[in-house]
Amino acid sequence: MSENPKSVVVIGGGITGLAVARKLLLKYGNRISLRILEKESLPGKHQSSRNSGVLHAGLAYQPGSKKALLAVSGIQQMVQFCEENDLPHEQCGKLVVARNEDEIAGLGALLKKGRANGLSGLRQLDREEMVALEPHVGGVAGLLVPGEGIADFAAVCEKLSEKIVQTGGQIVTGFRLSGVVVKKNQLILKAKSGDEMVADFAINCAGLYADKVCEYFGMNPGLRIIPFRGDYYRLKKESEHLVKNLIYPVPDPGYPFLGVHLHRMIRGGVAAGPNAVLAFSREGYRMRDVNFRELLESVSYRGLQKFLLRHRKMVISELQSSASATVFLSRLRKLVPELSAGDLERGKSGVRAQGIDRNGNLIGDFFVEKGKNSLHLLNAPSPGATASLSIADWVVDQIEF
Ligand SMILES: Cc1cc2nc3c(=O)[nH]c(=O)nc-3n(C[C@H](O)[C@H](O)[C@H](O)COP(=O)(O)OP(=O)(O)OC[C@H]3O[C@@H](n4cnc5c(N)ncnc54)[C@H](O)[C@@H]3O)c2cc1C
Repeated sequence: MSENPKSVVVIGGGITGLAVARKLLLKYGNRISLRILEKESLPGKHQSSRNSGVLHAGLAYQPGSKKALLAVSGIQQMVQFCEENDLPHEQCGKLVVARNEDEIAGLGALLKKGRANGLSGLRQLDREEMVALEPHVGGVAGLLVPGEGIADFAAVCEKLSEKIVQTGGQIVTGFRLSGVVVKKNQLILKAKSGDEMVADFAINCAGLYADKVCEYFGMNPGLRIIPFRGDYYRLKKESEHLVKNLIYPVPDPGYPFLGVHLHRMIRGGVAAGPNAVLAFSREGYRMRDVNFRELLESVSYRGLQKFLLRHRKMVISELQSSASATVFLSRLRKLVPELSAGDLERGKSGVRAQGIDRNGNLIGDFFVEKGKNSLHLLNAPSPGATASLSIADWVVDQIEF
């Protein structure tokens, strides 16, 4: 006699939730009944479609970390997925620029990390070689990362959704999870609307709300998601020739953010950004978006207080770059000195879900916590879109039905 299929829900229909759902269906087929619960009317509307669209190869991440391992395998899977499904993508290569002599040591450290992570074809360039690739670039030396590229992660979300539905999964939109009753062998998932759903197992991929969702299961996530908004500008059409592909600064190793960069987008145009501004609301895409309850929760968190004390210079500088186009432009001019205010127009913003622990440390790596009948992806910022299919393998490997 065949058993009833296990009822599995994935909370959050961003790129990681969709990738997890896809991999679960590939592994278990009709031995599970799978539903994605998404609060918006469509999947992929938050981080997964409000990002730089860059395929990261694993250059800047600590060797041996999940970020490094899953970026390296994730970019391969993502490129293959785009190829097989005819989705736009391009491995155009990235140039990391040392803006002055002091940053050359940083380039060397990146080269070492990249090699330790198994990246091939990395090449240190002198100024002449850089200019041959990016004629308008500033700086004194560079590092070429040939495997990196650009993709349309919103299109990836659409294709994953399509495949999930074709293989028997269900995407339930408009379901904002707001509470869970954990019974011995069952979960009762409650929506804000009053709807309820029963399941055997849940996987939390709720991005900016992953910590809250974890708490609904009666668990302590051990971190708080703090929203860091990233503002973008776009180059005006007539200025797009100033950037050929991807121009990045040497990242500050003290932060998980890669620094304001210039990048060609796969659907056309060149974007500039993102900075990393403490946001006043988890889904606050404009400076003036304030959610007082969320803001109060954030500022009363000891971890954020400690972070603010330690990093106030950075926090103020990021706020300034958000409030002033001149400050933003001064960062971009270190990469492409010819840029002027007239070359830029405002672009859209995204908000990163960045975990901070109680001691005020930004969580550097991807992070998962297991519960009874549940698993929680609690920290999946960049390169989470590139790595999503490998993050999904990692998550699925930790579950046995
Ligand atoms: C500015 C910026 C630039 C970035 N650049 C890059 C890049 O170039 N390359 C790269 O690889 N990565 C990049 N990233 C990171 C990447 O976008 C994320 O790692 C990835 O999108 C995370 O996907 P997710 O599915 O975990 O989160 P999300 O896309 O945020 O999805 C979470 C989903 O959960 C839903 N949800 C939340 N709470 C609930 C609830 N209570 N009930 C039901 N549903 C809920 C949300 O509506 C949302 O759809 C960038 C991110 C940002 C913000």
